[in-house]
Amino acid sequence: MSTPPRFATHAVENQPPPLAACDAYATDTALREALAREGGGWGESNAAAYGKLAGGELRECARLANAHRPQLRTHDRNGQRIDEVEFHPAYHRLMASAVEHGVTGFAWRHAERPGAHVVRAALMYLHYQADQGSACPLTMTYACVPALRHAPELAKTWLPRIVAPHYDGRHAPAWDKPGNTIGMGMTEKQGGSDVRANTTKATAIGDGLYELVGHKWFFSAPMSDAFLVTAQTEAGTTCFLLPRFAPDGSRNALRLQRLKDKLGDWSNASSEVEFAGALAWRVGAEGRGIATILEMVGLTRQDCLLGSAALMRQALVLALHHARHRRVFGDLLIRQPLMRAVLADLALESEAATALAFRVVRAVDAGARDPREAAFARVATAIGKYWVCKRAPGFVNEAQECLGGAGYVEESELPRLYRQAPVNSIWEGSGNIQCLDVLRALQREPECAQALLDELALARGALPALDAAVAALAAVLDHPAAIAPERARWLVERLALCLQAGLLFRAGHAALAAAFCAGRLQGAGGWTYGVLPAEAPIDALLERAWREGAPG
Ligand SMILES: Cc1cc2nc3c(=O)[nH]c(=O)nc-3n(C[C@H](O)[C@H](O)[C@H](O)COP(=O)(O)OP(=O)(O)OC[C@H]3O[C@@H](n4cnc5c(N)ncnc54)[C@H](O)[C@@H]3O)c2cc1C
Repeated sequence: MSTPPRFATHAVENQPPPLAACDAYATDTALREALAREGGGWGESNAAAYGKLAGGELRECARLANAHRPQLRTHDRNGQRIDEVEFHPAYHRLMASAVEHGVTGFAWRHAERPGAHVVRAALMYLHYQADQGSACPLTMTYACVPALRHAPELAKTWLPRIVAPHYDGRHAPAWDKPGNTIGMGMTEKQGGSDVRANTTKATAIGDGLYELVGHKWFFSAPMSDAFLVTAQTEAGTTCFLLPRFAPDGSRNALRLQRLKDKLGDWSNASSEVEFAGALAWRVGAEGRGIATILEMVGLTRQDCLLGSAALMRQALVLALHHARHRRVFGDLLIRQPLMRAVLADLALESEAATALAFRVVRAVDAGARDPREAAFARVATAIGKYWVCKRAPGFVNEAQECLGGAGYVEESELPRLYRQAPVNSIWEGSGNIQCLDVLRALQREPECAQALLDELALARGALPALDAAVAALAAVLDHPAAIAPERARWLVERLALCLQAGLLFRAGHAALAAAFCAGRLQGAGGWTYGVLPAEAPIDALLERAWREGAPG
């Protein structure tokens, strides 16, 4: 029906169309190059298949799953406790797609093949662009595997379901499902970073079972089939596998108190929980709980890095799309020199974040076979998590501004990305904790400093600014005991920037690496985006960034 004349106040013009469904893999040159460069090229068909879903149908699922936030149902109509979380069907669709395509299990199902974690990283990177909240249970399910192996008997029965390409969101015992998801509970009210401060008590009751009494202050994805949690035994902090249903099939004694009212991360439920004699199996030796669960945390930190790189990518795509369709002062935004400078600077930051993330994943992947890579992964995961997660909020805000007022409005998708941006920096060890962890690794494990220096040496002689920055770092790394904690952020930031510059150069992008050095290492840039030096390859950066939708 046409608009009645009395309502026809104006013609709607110059409004960019919504970002159409696109192939998030095929249109991402930096991702395709990273996958091949870091040893995951053999899994390209997997990434390509998921790219179409992530850039298409899953974006609408994410909109719905975030608009209809999870609801806690503590009791049924008769007043019986049920402690269930209810999700919109779109959330289950997101979870099922991810699990079936390998976001949780691919790396473990193909563990014999070098590069399996890199392929899986591409799947996670694609998923994260569509929906961020569901990435939380997905990453915990992926990451629990090394820790759970500390309980070989449990691993024998649980791991096949954890790595299976099947999702089953029913509230039912784990052993009645073809696939399981896993959560993690460490943080308590009196202390999160310091897990030793846990007060939850675990008492052995025989048959390898323990009874847990206490609480967790943050407990994400509480509808998971089981959780790796920490609690105190006589020997100290210990790791446990706590199932939603007790071994006899009754509901386990975990009480969901409430869901956190979070800034963002809305498709994901994060709860507060009490354990009222909940039954759990021990994982690893009593008193070794922190070391055991850190094997899981190493991988969730890797995914924080990957997730923030993906978040930047999605924000960049939205900004480029808008700029290619919006006219201002007589021409498209994408043709306005100052906007081109901003977009190119964002593209450069996104490239560098993606390059560092995938290099870290390759080290994680190769670590089991190569001690040098293991040492690099040990320290570079924390470096990358600190720096890329810290860069994300400012990046997303700048991308938002490229859309003007529309970027502040929910329908543009950017407010959701903006709300999500800070969380990767906070959870799984906040910024200071990452920097202190880097310091600890450098001071206690000399092979970590050596692995960093070896890596940085691979780009030696390429860029004078990088050489100078690396020389200054090498002098510091020579005397790790002398590095004061208050210098840790400075050190980690410089290490991250040097690693990123070297990676861009070694990836065959000398001009991008030179611009990165000039803007980020030499001080020729500034504090915001859009301040690259005049000779920066603006056209090349924009050409690489995203082709789809480009005006002719
Ligand atoms: C949305 C969300 C979901 C979460 N889900 C889970 C979950 O599922 N399971 C779980 O276990 N936890 C979860 N967490 C908790 C999260 O991991 C912790 O909040 C985080 O590790 C920080 O712990 P804290 O809040 O106790 O802060 P604190 O430990 O009190 O730290 C506060 C600040 O002090 C800094 N700091 C700490 N020690 C030092 C030091 N020695 N020197 C200098 N600075 C220091 C920290 O970096 C931080 O910035 C979640 C958090 C959020 C926001």
